[in-house]
Amino acid sequence: MRPEYVKVPLPSGENYTKIKQTLRERTLFTVCEEARCPNVAECWGNGTATFMILGSNCTRGCRFCAVTHGNPIPLDPDEPEKVLQSVKVMGLDYVVITSVDRDDLPDQGSSHFASVIRKIKGSGVLVEVLIPDFRGEKSLIDNIINEKPAVIAHNVETVERLTPSVRDGRAGYGQSLDLLRYVKEKNPDQITKSSIMMGLGEKDDEVIQTMMDLRNAGVDILTIGQYLRPSRKQMEVIEYCSSERFASFEKTGIKMGFSFVASGPLVRTSYRAAEAWAKGRFL
Ligand code: SF4
Ligand code: SF4
Repeated sequence: MRPEYVKVPLPSGENYTKIKQTLRERTLFTVCEEARCPNVAECWGNGTATFMILGSNCTRGCRFCAVTHGNPIPLDPDEPEKVLQSVKVMGLDYVVITSVDRDDLPDQGSSHFASVIRKIKGSGVLVEVLIPDFRGEKSLIDNIINEKPAVIAHNVETVERLTPSVRDGRAGYGQSLDLLRYVKEKNPDQITKSSIMMGLGEKDDEVIQTMMDLRNAGVDILTIGQYLRPSRKQMEVIEYCSSERFASFEKTGIKMGFSFVASGPLVRTSYRAAEAWAKGRFL
């Protein structure tokens, strides 16, 4: 049975509608609204939002994800400026940038990603990035590291056993851990982050192992949330996890040495992002 926490009202209100309209005029999209994230009121109210760049179509097809898959569209050279303008209109002071995967481009979109970071950082706003795996190509990951965003996040999404049936075949559990480890080795001061979805059939010991793997890769911040099926096209939810189970992972994560752990049904990668960054910074 679907628990109460799944029944979250859609965001609404005059301010929300005004911001949404402003974004449409600039053909920009936030993950917050596209994913109908239940935390919109809290995040936007606290000056945080997540933008998705590099176009609306992803070259991959993860089974949990509602982003459109298919023919990628050309990059918009004005995108960095458009994102910056939207950040200003929304009055944000902490911005999360993520993207679709662009396996079609020679540099998989990493230089464009870097130029968006540069543009926003240049205006004095803090930028966190949630990046693709760039198929593990170090020079492409370097493009991001060199911009020194506040946080570099990359999601393992699920436990090792379930990775082939949850993520696109080009993604890999080991590849994601290697990326996170590489970022930390290259710049030990860089705060890193990753996320795990619950409800896909993972066992407790597998989740704990994944948390240990992330810690061993030097990851600072961990978020754990419930997978909610976006539509009938995506994979089914195997299990709705209890709030107690989430709370127990949070305790375990803190004991393991993560600087910040957010674990709860509605937690998403960028939930309380600015707070997580601040905690990671002072350790
Ligand atoms: Fe947006 Fe992330 Fe907050 Fe959801 S949790 S509203 S996606 S910033
Ligand atoms: Fe969705 Fe990212 Fe997978 Fe693309 S790579 S399908 S955007 S989760």
